[in-house]
Amino acid sequence: MNAASHSVIDPVELTRDLIRIPSVTPADEGAMDVLERALTGLGFSCRRMVFEGPTGVGHDARIENLYARRGTASPNLCFAGHTDVVPIGDLKAWSAGPFEGETRDGVLYGRGAVDMKGGIAAWVAAVSRVLAAGEIEGSLSFLITGDEEGPALHGTKRVVQTLAAEGEVIDACVVGEPSSAHHLGDMIKVGRRGSLNTWITVFGKQGHVAYPDRAANPAPVIARLLARLDAHVLDEGYPEFPPSNLEITTIDVGNPATNIIPAEAKARLNIRFNPTHTGDGLIDWMNREAGALQAETGLRIELEHMCSGEAFLTEPGVFVSAVQDAVEVVLGRRPEASTTGGTSDARFIRALCPVLELGLVGQTMHQVDERVPETELRALTDAYERVIATVLERLKP
Ligand SMILES: [Zn+2]
Repeated sequence: MNAASHSVIDPVELTRDLIRIPSVTPADEGAMDVLERALTGLGFSCRRMVFEGPTGVGHDARIENLYARRGTASPNLCFAGHTDVVPIGDLKAWSAGPFEGETRDGVLYGRGAVDMKGGIAAWVAAVSRVLAAGEIEGSLSFLITGDEEGPALHGTKRVVQTLAAEGEVIDACVVGEPSSAHHLGDMIKVGRRGSLNTWITVFGKQGHVAYPDRAANPAPVIARLLARLDAHVLDEGYPEFPPSNLEITTIDVGNPATNIIPAEAKARLNIRFNPTHTGDGLIDWMNREAGALQAETGLRIELEHMCSGEAFLTEPGVFVSAVQDAVEVVLGRRPEASTTGGTSDARFIRALCPVLELGLVGQTMHQVDERVPETELRALTDAYERVIATVLERLKP
């Protein structure tokens, strides 16, 4: 492969091309084709992975995913991202067409501009510059999904499972989510808290309040269980994370009468947890507490749990500092390594390799008039170019 034959890709033009495809999750509409064309032109072997299945929200989905790799040598530096976008919301509230890619006063408007078609385009453009400068030592890869903004069941999660089963080695991964808080490059995300939802039902026996011996009231039992769970100190937190936190989000008995002991009491809670815990560990703990109270009271207690993401932390080390150093050289500020914010696909990728998020300023993500200054897209491309060179150099076997 002759490096000089690759053309250098413009990050603004590629972002615009991607914005013009209305890939509102889970629809692809050809977004992955645009990306595959660009990567094929840069010498990547592209592999489409289409996964189908239920989404948990009433219909099946067919999700386009892409794993592309250039080179076979180590280290393999991967870029991960998603081509799907959130819905536009109120079209009338937009001052520019959400899928037109219009530039006004140097600012590019459109759904996905920052989250995260702009980030993908910037990395592709950075790769094109790196390759135009000469052959690389190592491999570059892309793990791109069309299922991040939705239930995320048939996207990165399944691609990671497939790659892991095949023994594909990825040494480090940058996720192009808009990680910057106020200024480009002021923050990278090196971990996230986990999230667990639990639904509790206590089954009693309905009856007249005047004859409590003929009934069994679930209300005081659920109150006791919730008080026990809420009083428990999960941990004290540690440098990168606040203490894990349990919030009771609803308590429902649904009893309109004043003279009835209700038959059932329900509650729901959410736990945001740091890597002290796993979802399964927290589930075991709550099941034990419920089992003990069931034995004490004789009332049946049912718990249902859904862990939507485990906590993770990419420890400080060669990879994290390589990225911080590269950003500092190019943008003049050293990014803070943070664990704040919601979940991202990094939670799946951490099973393969150290992962962090570095991308645009997230201020307008998911909003009406999502937009990015073209100068920032170009500056991010500069930073990514340096990140690629620095990480490949420092992870050299
Ligand atoms: Zn995103």
